[in-house]
Amino acid sequence: ARTLRIGLIPGDGIGREVIPAGRRILESLPSSLGLKFDFVDLDAGYEHFKAFGTALPEKTVETLQKECDGALFGAVSSPTNKVAGYTSPIVALRKRLSLYANVRPCKTVLSPAFRSPSTSPIDLVIVRENTEDLYVKEEKTYPDPNGDGQIAEAIKRISTQASRRIATIAGEIAARRQKMRQKPNGEAAQKEAMVTITHKSNVLSQTDGLFRSTAREALAAPAFSSLKIEEQIVDSMVYKLFLQPQYYDVIVAPNLYGDLLSDGAAALVGSLGLVPSANVGEDIVMGEPCHGSAPDIEGKGIANPVATIRSVGCMLEFLNQPEAADVIYNAVDEGLREGKFISPDLGGKASTEEVMDDIVRRL
Ligand code: NAD
Ligand code: MN
Repeated sequence: ARTLRIGLIPGDGIGREVIPAGRRILESLPSSLGLKFDFVDLDAGYEHFKAFGTALPEKTVETLQKECDGALFGAVSSPTNKVAGYTSPIVALRKRLSLYANVRPCKTVLSPAFRSPSTSPIDLVIVRENTEDLYVKEEKTYPDPNGDGQIAEAIKRISTQASRRIATIAGEIAARRQKMRQKPNGEAAQKEAMVTITHKSNVLSQTDGLFRSTAREALAAPAFSSLKIEEQIVDSMVYKLFLQPQYYDVIVAPNLYGDLLSDGAAALVGSLGLVPSANVGEDIVMGEPCHGSAPDIEGKGIANPVATIRSVGCMLEFLNQPEAADVIYNAVDEGLREGKFISPDLGGKASTEEVMDDIVRRL
């Protein structure tokens, strides 16, 4: 059996309640998959900052870089008022580990037990560039030469390399999804395999223009010839995404648009407790639920573990273990569809542990 070493970074709040569920899922995978897991517990977060003066210890970064194949990140709290010396460890981790893609699948499961905002199922993936665009954080402020007050500027940087890399992984994801849907149990077989390139190159002809033309070129590769490639300007993309989310398959976007679109898409599926993500790099893949540390429900044992459990699936998918990922996705979908163990965020009564146990039984 192949052994994968997984770093566990629970962080703060409910991160500490859902990451153990993620670990339990990995430990409970059927042995027929031929996978074994080794775990290493790692610190990060605001509580760690308060106790030791750093939110992201070097040891965490080094262990992830040198020892780990994958990682699971829970959530961290960020104080509302600026605290000297504190910066969010997740942003730093994405940079330090070169996690160039943020992949967020949004999928509804229709269940008698709870209502989703959308009555027909959504099944889409947003692939967000994770390293550049306005997030290079090169800002400056200077006096306005033409009047009182100041002028603030930020650099929006787009490169051929990062655009090609993100478009390529979006194409790979769409091709893989197309293959999955061809399996006999594929419920969405009628859906067209497609990548939608999002940009605003009608206004930003150089930056978004480069993103658009590079993505077009990358997705014209023979490997993607079975995919429909289309593009959409980001404002009308928001409109159509909210009006007709069922239409979309894979959406690829520069950093900022991807950030906004993916939070919007998460709202369409019903609860933050359902939405997973993977941060993908060349050397490591980090699964991460999209929600935060949820201080309002911390310590009550009612956090929905589904986002984290699905993030375990995402991590495995990008560690080239699609069968293991599918076992997890299917167990989650089945549990939600049957609707016996549903957590309070979806209107049910089940605890974190009960939802986890239900999914483990189905693996
Ligand atoms: P949040 O995601 O923590 O919570 C928003 C709402 O959703 C809350 O009512 C919460 O109870 C609910 N919720 C979230 N996850 C849930 C789950 N798994 N099960 C059931 N209910 C769930 O967002 P927030 O309240 O805006 O932020 C709280 C803290 O988390 C802040 O300090 C913020 O900075 C941090 N945060 C961290 C991340 C991250 O680590 N990536 C992301 C977002 C927010
Ligand atoms: Mn965001």
